Amino acid sequence: MTLEIAGRLGIFATVFAALAVWELLAPKRELSIGRLKRWPSNFGVLVVDALLVRLLIPTAAVGAAVAAAGNGWGLFNWLQLRLSVGAVLGFLILDFVIWAQHWTFHHVPLLWRLHRMHHADLDIDVTTGVRFHPIEILISLLIKIAVIVAFGIPPVGVFVFEVMLNATSMFNHSNARMPAWLDRVLRLFVVTPDMHRVHHSVHRAEHDSNYGFNLSWWDHLFRSYTGQPAEGHVAMRIGLPVFREPGEQRLVSLLAQPLRESAGGP
Ligand SMILES: [Zn+2]
Ligand SMILES: [Zn+2]
Repeated sequence: MTLEIAGRLGIFATVFAALAVWELLAPKRELSIGRLKRWPSNFGVLVVDALLVRLLIPTAAVGAAVAAAGNGWGLFNWLQLRLSVGAVLGFLILDFVIWAQHWTFHHVPLLWRLHRMHHADLDIDVTTGVRFHPIEILISLLIKIAVIVAFGIPPVGVFVFEVMLNATSMFNHSNARMPAWLDRVLRLFVVTPDMHRVHHSVHRAEHDSNYGFNLSWWDHLFRSYTGQPAEGHVAMRIGLPVFREPGEQRLVSLLAQPLRESAGGP
């Protein structure tokens, strides 16, 4: 387990550093309030998330997969699926579940209160990819654990999924510019920064689309795909119509945001 944490931390730091340099050298948009006012809070959220999850569910998702494998729990173990088949199928199932969870957090008002903190970021860059309310992270982890145990997803599939989800979330939130042809090719498989930026539009029709974090297929399959923002990537407004005052970006305000009223509908 310690090895898992060390491995994940190492990959996280490497991917984060690479994306941070990329968006510094080739930014897609000019940041409206800059890094100094946002990064400490976005990292603060990440630290609170990590501590809370480790405190409440120290075994996390891979631990649940190890327990399922050891005890023969779940559909894949009953069917005695080959490890490689179980890992690939498990990866796809988890990716779809996270897509469905994201859709649900947009459509159930109580859950939207938790998720809207992610959308209240006034810029979108690599740190937005780790800015999720700790209760949303906890609910998401419980859902993943239930799915892992029900299907008996092998630990290797869960580990690869967790690392990929973390890396692709940072990638698709990054403010990095890439050639249009590369975006087109990547979009056939994964969610690109341009595809996910649409999801951070201030307009509801746009932020209620492109729910994918990793594979781009689910949004096509369930007709929730929007190719480009109506106002273009540079001119579009990022964030919500509310929670736009500078004080809203403080860590305490972010954590307390689900309890506050002023946000209106999704
Ligand atoms: Zn969202
Ligand atoms: Zn996002």
